[in-house]
Amino acid sequence: MKGVKICMLVKIPVLDLKPEIEFLWDDLMSAIQGVLKSGQFIMGPNVKAFEQEVAAYLGVKHAIGVNSGTDALVIGLKAAGICPGDEVITTPFTFFATAEAVSLVGAIPVFVDIDPKTFNIDPNLIKPAITLRTKAILPVHLYGQAADMDPIMELAAKHNLKVIEDTAQAFGGEYKGKKLGTIGDVGCFSFFPSKNLGAFGDGGLIATDDDQIAETARMLRVHGSRKKYYNEAIGYNSRLDEIQAAILRVKLPHIDNANEGRRQASHRYNELLKDVLGIITPYEDPNAKHVYHQYTIRVQNGCRDELKDHLAHNGIGTMVYYPVPVHRLPMYKEQAPTLTVAEQLADEVLSLPIWPGISQEFQEQLASSTIR
Ligand SMILES: *Cc1c(COP(=O)(O)O)cnc(C)c1O
Repeated sequence: MKGVKICMLVKIPVLDLKPEIEFLWDDLMSAIQGVLKSGQFIMGPNVKAFEQEVAAYLGVKHAIGVNSGTDALVIGLKAAGICPGDEVITTPFTFFATAEAVSLVGAIPVFVDIDPKTFNIDPNLIKPAITLRTKAILPVHLYGQAADMDPIMELAAKHNLKVIEDTAQAFGGEYKGKKLGTIGDVGCFSFFPSKNLGAFGDGGLIATDDDQIAETARMLRVHGSRKKYYNEAIGYNSRLDEIQAAILRVKLPHIDNANEGRRQASHRYNELLKDVLGIITPYEDPNAKHVYHQYTIRVQNGCRDELKDHLAHNGIGTMVYYPVPVHRLPMYKEQAPTLTVAEQLADEVLSLPIWPGISQEFQEQLASSTIR
């Protein structure tokens, strides 16, 4: 076979959860077994301990486990006093659940355009969108990158608005030294398995320093009752499962390392891709800590889908988060303004494979497939 170079291309998934599971296998198993042995599956000691551990990690007074990130948003909005007919200013460039939660509480999502560098809500566009009915601003820290919180908090203070942070993609991320999800009135987290802190099923959490919001959220998650069978409000069945809490307690002590692994892999991608024409690598705000839930590039000149197909052909998985900006989805598009940046980016973004400890070989293989 002399002289014949056999190039072994391996398949690269967009996300591989196996390395982390293998690394934590023994601890995960004993945590799961502990729950099975205890026979306590709802609101047991692991939920309580996880809530305390997350509160300590984030530096907030209250952490309240719920059933999903979506429920964290719905209950968080309700607990913050958002009522039917209220307007909530948010980003169209997010997962549907952000706006869906606003609609589920009967409020109206008001979409404003995004900053093309950070992919997050453009604070300059919030002020002109404020009306007498505006009650809250709902920024999203998309892909693990902080929204620009200072001007958002300033506007909120001036106009007496609540701020609810959608932190579903940014556990452990920071803005000016503060943990994301602790800057506004309420922080909403998701532990969906693919999130940067993921359970093995659905899960979510509400973080707040506000005693009143915390008490209301705790009441709403168990059918609107503070005392069992003395229900006082129409609430939800939305608890974090004991088994998921036990799993998350194993993972939480490793989250900073995992986020660091994502950051390292991202910086490696930046180097590998820096000279590729027509690709813009992610912006990193020097005042924030991006945790790269996703590593998302922009592919210019209408070549995104072509590059995606080309990589797929080479066995490399990528994803488009998200192909349709939320204001263009059927339930919102009638009233929606044209939001040019979000619409353009929906055609340009491409998220590359990333997880803590993704191999350099994978990343190099991707880069050489990208440079055609
Ligand atoms: C995942 C996600 C949600 C919803 O979380 P679930 O746990 O899946 O309900 C909300 N907002 C954003 C930005 C998300 O990425």
